[in-house]
Amino acid sequence: MKFSSAQADVYVPDGAAPAAALARVTHLCVAAHQDDIEIMAYAGICDALAEAGGGFGGVVVTSGAGSPRSGPYAAFTDEQMQAARREEQREAARLGRYAIQIQLAHPSATVRRPGDRGVASDLAAIFSGCAPEAVYLHNPMDRHGTHVAVFCRCLEALRSLPPGRRPARILGCEVWRDLDWALDEDKVALDAGRRPELAGPIVAVFASQIAGGKRYDLAALGRRAAHATFHASHATDRLDGITWALDLRPLLEPGAPSVEAFVEERLARFRADILARLRAHA
Ligand SMILES: [Zn+2]
Repeated sequence: MKFSSAQADVYVPDGAAPAAALARVTHLCVAAHQDDIEIMAYAGICDALAEAGGGFGGVVVTSGAGSPRSGPYAAFTDEQMQAARREEQREAARLGRYAIQIQLAHPSATVRRPGDRGVASDLAAIFSGCAPEAVYLHNPMDRHGTHVAVFCRCLEALRSLPPGRRPARILGCEVWRDLDWALDEDKVALDAGRRPELAGPIVAVFASQIAGGKRYDLAALGRRAAHATFHASHATDRLDGITWALDLRPLLEPGAPSVEAFVEERLARFRADILARLRAHA
């Protein structure tokens, strides 16, 4: 399995051949940075572990070169930082018993630009090399530009697949900016409250990101717990943790709206919902 960047890394925790490992992926997450997968698609990691024949595939598109560094990492060069982050991502794949972990190692600037051939061919090879039942992507309303760019590159790659090869379930997950505000009809609750023995450690392996005092491990778990508590669901089917996601499948149907129209529609429903409640009680 060969990808366009010389720094690309393909890791198969159980030592199987990479193409076979990719082919058995049932839950696939394509994210921008090391640690995004474990924050946004933890429910998919758990689903793959729970299903007979399940296999989780993780893809990190960027190299992680530009990340902030502090504490023991303060003097790291870009190369050292990339190596540290690559190894942290491999450790997460071991902990979560992924079928495969691919790190494409593209510079953020390359991914942010539409039309890069290397990024397009890498993503096309990944999406056509497996037939996952669920795909986890960033969502188009994320606050991080690189996340939005990776989402756009993934959508382009998925739209270029023949209609019969497009995954049935495509979810746009929250990382930077929560999705709890979206109306229930527009969002999906992913069960991220399982396996507490794994939930913290699989985010805490990204020590280089946490070293500066940003406790992503605590924050990710706290957000899941808060969403579960503040979501008005029936007590009987309450989850211990929720990651919110947008159902992105409409973007792959025949006659799909543009991403902008898709977003506008959801924003309009959010706005109308707030104003209707206010008008009813003011
Ligand atoms: Zn990220």
